[in-house]
Amino acid sequence: MADIDAFVQAEADALVRELSEWCAIPSISSDPERAGDVRRSAEHLAGLMEAAGLDTEVLAADGGLPAVYGEWLGAGTDAPTITVYGHHDVQPADPLEEWATPPFEPTVRDGCLHARGASDDKGQIHFQVSAIRHLLAADGRLPVNVKFFVEGEEESGSPTIDAFLGEHADRLACDLILVSDTGMVAEDVPSLVTAMRGLIYFQVDLRTAPADLHSGSFGGAVPNAIAELVTLLAGLKDEAGRITIPGWYDDVVALTDEERANMAALPFDPDQLKAVTGVGALPGEDGYTPLERMSGRPTADVNGIWGGFSGVGTKTIIPATAHAKVSFRLVADQEPARLEPLFERWVRDRVPDHVEVSVRSYGGVKPARTPLDHPGNRAAAKAVARAFGKDPLFYREGGSGPERALSDALGAACVYLGVMLPEDRVHAPNERLLLAHYYRGVRAAAYAFEEFAKPEVATALRAPAG
Ligand SMILES: [Zn+2]
Repeated sequence: MADIDAFVQAEADALVRELSEWCAIPSISSDPERAGDVRRSAEHLAGLMEAAGLDTEVLAADGGLPAVYGEWLGAGTDAPTITVYGHHDVQPADPLEEWATPPFEPTVRDGCLHARGASDDKGQIHFQVSAIRHLLAADGRLPVNVKFFVEGEEESGSPTIDAFLGEHADRLACDLILVSDTGMVAEDVPSLVTAMRGLIYFQVDLRTAPADLHSGSFGGAVPNAIAELVTLLAGLKDEAGRITIPGWYDDVVALTDEERANMAALPFDPDQLKAVTGVGALPGEDGYTPLERMSGRPTADVNGIWGGFSGVGTKTIIPATAHAKVSFRLVADQEPARLEPLFERWVRDRVPDHVEVSVRSYGGVKPARTPLDHPGNRAAAKAVARAFGKDPLFYREGGSGPERALSDALGAACVYLGVMLPEDRVHAPNERLLLAHYYRGVRAAAYAFEEFAKPEVATALRAPAG
């Protein structure tokens, strides 16, 4: 019978050595010169997965970087099938001079593995693979059917994931997606993400004249494009911090009492957030805490604004054009395809007839949400409680990722099991993985597979979503 604690204790150093070898491969997906390293990383992971007992294949969509697929399907048709999702590519490492030890020479110090990708996301795939390796070695079987989909281009926005899912959705089909690419809020606060925000992004261009005009000759009688633009953008939110676009909140699923209670129990200090970000206030939507506003509510932000004259000295013109980039974070069940025309109509309705306007959309990411009482979330919470010795709190992630695309393609909900910490400096110099958390991750993954196999959970997961 598998004893995951004994395995982790006996293999502690060997596991970190194995992870370090993988982290030494600079699989930076955004750098075309590293494409060979991304492939090497995929093949290296495929080797680890094969050694763990999974049937493995390196796959890529046309023009995409290689992903690693793996499966062990011996648990029978009554057992649920779990697809583990994560990525083996990493962010660029620069500025290199800020690293205490080189990013691709993994080093253990202060109880942490320091390397690019240690937390995001090689360490989090490695704890899953290690749990499976132990369960298969000890028991000859897993309690559930398991598949892996480990992407090679997540850090560059998953450009071919839709094509990949279109091609391989049947192979990846499952009853639950176990996302292994998120974190916990603090070392002593085990926690589980339940939702990701979506995103839509626009450029707005206004024109009020064929060319800039002399402000002395015409000022006082002609429209100013920048003035029109800032008037428009100033109306995006009302005094209560709510987005004013008609219909914007129609599909927003309200935070439940249980979610709000969980978020209120998280350690959060507004003054510390102010200190970390260097801001003097935390303005936002009335009636919601900063934590709720940063993850569970829609946002509107002007990302950039330009036009007219901004060079050295003075130039007395009335600008003919003005431009802005505007983005919105979305929450479930807001759909990019429904909201994009709402924003465009709002802009057209609000600019006067004498202003020429164009709105360009850069496309969107759909939000994802798995209700707290989903059987997968309840089971994952039990697994985390067993591994961390404390019941986890549920919270939402404010960022956006491919989780909903996965959910839609595979017809299954996402449950998030991740152990990275805010102090792990992911995407930044000196990225690290707290080894104590990594070891608990190995345990939590093994326990999660057990929990998903319990009859009442398995039955609920196997039932078609309705
Ligand atoms: Zn990641």
